[in-house]
Amino acid sequence: MTSPRPHIAVIGRGMMGSACARHLTEAGVEVTLIGPDEPADPTRHTGPFGSHHDEGRITRKLAHDADWSRLSTRSIARYADLEAVSGRRIFTACGGMMAGPGSGPGAAFTSAFLRVADVLRIAHERHDDASLPARFPYFRFAPGTHAAWEATGGYINPRALRDAEGLMAERARARVIRQPVTALSEGHMTPADGTVISADQVVMATGAYAFTDGLLPKRPAMRVYARTIAFAEVDEAEAARLAEMPSLIFIPEALAYDLYLLPPIRYPDGKLYLKIGGEDQSPRLTNDVEMTEWFQSKGSSAMGRELLAHLRELMPDLAIQSAHTGACAVSFTSTGYPYIDRVSDRLTLLTGGNGAGAKCCDELGRLGAMVALGQDISDQGYDADFRVVFA
Ligand SMILES: Cc1cc2nc3c(=O)[nH]c(=O)nc-3n(C[C@H](O)[C@H](O)[C@H](O)COP(=O)(O)OP(=O)(O)OC[C@H]3O[C@@H](n4cnc5c(N)ncnc54)[C@H](O)[C@@H]3O)c2cc1C
Repeated sequence: MTSPRPHIAVIGRGMMGSACARHLTEAGVEVTLIGPDEPADPTRHTGPFGSHHDEGRITRKLAHDADWSRLSTRSIARYADLEAVSGRRIFTACGGMMAGPGSGPGAAFTSAFLRVADVLRIAHERHDDASLPARFPYFRFAPGTHAAWEATGGYINPRALRDAEGLMAERARARVIRQPVTALSEGHMTPADGTVISADQVVMATGAYAFTDGLLPKRPAMRVYARTIAFAEVDEAEAARLAEMPSLIFIPEALAYDLYLLPPIRYPDGKLYLKIGGEDQSPRLTNDVEMTEWFQSKGSSAMGRELLAHLRELMPDLAIQSAHTGACAVSFTSTGYPYIDRVSDRLTLLTGGNGAGAKCCDELGRLGAMVALGQDISDQGYDADFRVVFA
């Protein structure tokens, strides 16, 4: 007699959880994927929210760290298959660029991404003061900027990528429960309707909520930050002028930390927006009440003005039709890498995007599935061990 298939429940239908569920179904186990849909009206929703409710996330092989580059390189290689199978457009290969100062406080960031590009042999163009103005005429970088541009980067639609992963899991017979989990104890969890679901293994992939909601037996060491995003609307002609614009991570002259900028992307309201974000310090979120209040808001208008000032400095000719802000949360781990680890015999943790987890979610989901299945990931070609650290 054959034994029944193991049952693994994944809590969190976000980027990592959906990818993990897909990889688990491919491993042949019985999978239940539990989590709410994206809120229809964020201003009235009482949670949980997700950090992927947007139309653009930068993707790139270039990175300040070799493991982050490996994670994204492996994920990027699988976007085309995900698009083919799901029928969703996920990836726009408009190019990806990282730029920073050659000297001063931000120089370590610049030398780190240039070194990773060399060590991992990422095909890229190098640029400096001599070549940047002609190659990227719409940008005005500070003197002394060094940049690397890769054709293999660009942006993903995080909603489409998450949907594709979830769709593939569902097609492979994963059961999907569209509710938040309100209680969790060793292999048993309670969705909002009060039913109890039992599984041999539970994967907690709830993003920032792994830190704030108290469902885990121990709190992982994470810093969850309230982050503001600024959107600058452009018209069709301006978007056409910027047709070659890459996604960009850069350090402006006045800062010692990096900002991110995405080229014009069409949003569900039919309009085209450039999106800029990045903050060194912002308010910390420590519980679900704070998370809900923040996600219901439009972010900080003061920070929005600051981000738009950086955008105007970088792109002085940009014709902005209107601007608005949005709210999001990023979760940083104490190791700087995602936590992909067993918390107990029946509980796996998969979280900690460190502001960079969207593009790599497929590979993170694959590693999460391996850990949930009891497999060793130390031979997967990473320097990091992805072990969880508790607060
Ligand atoms: C403004 C901003 C810009 C970013 N830019 C980039 C970028 O350019 N490139 C990049 O790669 N990354 C970027 N990131 C990071 C990236 O979006 C995150 O790393 C990624 O979304 C993390 O995926 P996740 O699955 O861990 O969490 P999430 O995507 O937040 O998903 C978590 C899911 O868990 C669910 N959940 C929570 N609690 C429960 C519960 N109790 N029961 C059931 N479900 C629950 C939520 O509803 C949600 O669907 C950005 C993040 C932000 C905020």
